[in-house]
Amino acid sequence: MSESTSLQGKRVLVTGASSGIGRAIALALGEKGAEIAILARREDRLRDVSEKIIESGSKGISVPVDLSDSGAAQDAVNFAASALGGLDILINAAGVARQAGLSDGKIEDWRTMLDVNVFALAVVTREALTHFPDQGGHVVNISSMSGHRVPGKGGFYAATKFAVRAMTEGLRQELRAAGNQTRVCSISPGFVDTELLDEYFATSGGDESKYDKIGYPLLQPEEIADLVIHQLTMPPTAEVTDILVRPTAQAT
Ligand code: NAP
Repeated sequence: MSESTSLQGKRVLVTGASSGIGRAIALALGEKGAEIAILARREDRLRDVSEKIIESGSKGISVPVDLSDSGAAQDAVNFAASALGGLDILINAAGVARQAGLSDGKIEDWRTMLDVNVFALAVVTREALTHFPDQGGHVVNISSMSGHRVPGKGGFYAATKFAVRAMTEGLRQELRAAGNQTRVCSISPGFVDTELLDEYFATSGGDESKYDKIGYPLLQPEEIADLVIHQLTMPPTAEVTDILVRPTAQAT
């Protein structure tokens, strides 16, 4: 039987770690002994997460940055990589979701989703790869069920997540063609109980909470973190390219 990969001492960069799925992944990796740099805009939230990582006995470094600024995103990745002495793993979890329809959505909402979900992911990934070891590392993109089907009113958000799916597969093929063994994976969740859903449903109007709108138990961020740990600890010869995971009651 082949050996699974240990995360002890692995140098990880997690974007979108100030809340939700990115935060849960960063904390789970800290518990596994990884050294982690966390990126997002909200400094107080980042500090709270890095303190928890340090309490668990690992290294946690906060790097506040607005990833929609490509220059700042590149600087943040390079700062994080030099603080950790290189990078082994990149987790792209930063993302935004707004119900901005293709027939009536606001251009600023479209641009924000494109900037963060697509452009920032591409910029951060390209920069992070320059700090990976020659033997290869691991990139995990948090995509969405919306990268596999288009929900009503969520067409533009889905377009950004279809793009994440294309970038995940495109990068994997580019790296293999170059003889680089970096594994490139995505996770495609349905509804997860995070702040993103508050914003998503707020942009559709009305006062109902996400719980009332959805009406069934949501996935928890920690469950997504467990799946990321599973992908990262597979034997080096196995690559889990995508995981589709929904709340059991979510039909589509
Ligand atoms: P969340 O709690 O709102 O987290 C989003 C993260 O992205 C936050 O840490 C936020 O940090 C960061 N972010 C947003 N804009 C940023 C910017 N301009 N610069 C830097 N960081 C930025 O939502 P989440 O659900 O965990 O989302 C994580 C990923 O999961 C996203 O890619 C989302 O599309 C995906 N996803 C979520 C669900 C769901 O139902 N929740 C389902 C499928 C996929 P700051 O605000 O501090 O900058």
